[in-house]
Amino acid sequence: VVCCGPTAYPFAHCFACRTLARRLRLPLVPVLPASLCPLPGPLYRVLMGYKESPVDEARRQFARRLGELFSVFLTDHRACIEAALGGPVELVLPVPSSSRPGRAPLERVDGLAALVVAALGHGARWLPPALQQASRDIGHMRPNVEAFAVPRPCRDAVRAARVVLLDDTYVSGSRAQSAAATLRLARARAVVIVPLGRVVRPERFAAHAAFVDRSPLGDGHRSRCVLPQTRAASA
Ligand SMILES: [Zn+2]
Ligand SMILES: [Zn+2]
Repeated sequence: VVCCGPTAYPFAHCFACRTLARRLRLPLVPVLPASLCPLPGPLYRVLMGYKESPVDEARRQFARRLGELFSVFLTDHRACIEAALGGPVELVLPVPSSSRPGRAPLERVDGLAALVVAALGHGARWLPPALQQASRDIGHMRPNVEAFAVPRPCRDAVRAARVVLLDDTYVSGSRAQSAAATLRLARARAVVIVPLGRVVRPERFAAHAAFVDRSPLGDGHRSRCVLPQTRAASA
């Protein structure tokens, strides 16, 4: 229901979402993953490679591919994002890193801001400084609403805004949902998370393997998309 990830009867929410909501003591925000991301796999290589490849040229190529993937998905599903937010996007920013200091890896991708704003409409403002790391006490399945903070100069921009949080991957959602919770507590009107890959581990968990096998249609947000299918369906 929330993250388009694998569920087991009789649950509508996956194990990660149930755990996070309980620990955050807040409702989770919707996640619109561009795709499932089985691990290992070619998409995962791109989504890690743009920040971790030791070869400069490889990092640049992965970053270009990542920009294309965001551009196509955000363009094709802008209506879905606006429906989830209840109106046009006003702010867009990456989920900050919780482990590396400084700017989020997505923030360092050349040209990404322009691609994203072109796809979401010029009312959308690219504002990465709106979230900053505030505590390192966060981990897999261990969300923390105090892990991030909205700095004072950005509080007016966040208040009452419809916000899109971008990320490369979504695993348990601990980091992204903590960031969303911080924005909600700073009085953002609505927040959605758009990761390029909702990570699943078919090689490790039988439930994930079954989920991947039975769902070519369960491919991330597209399994829920209600738009008349555009090029996204054939992509
Ligand atoms: Zn979930
Ligand atoms: Zn859609």
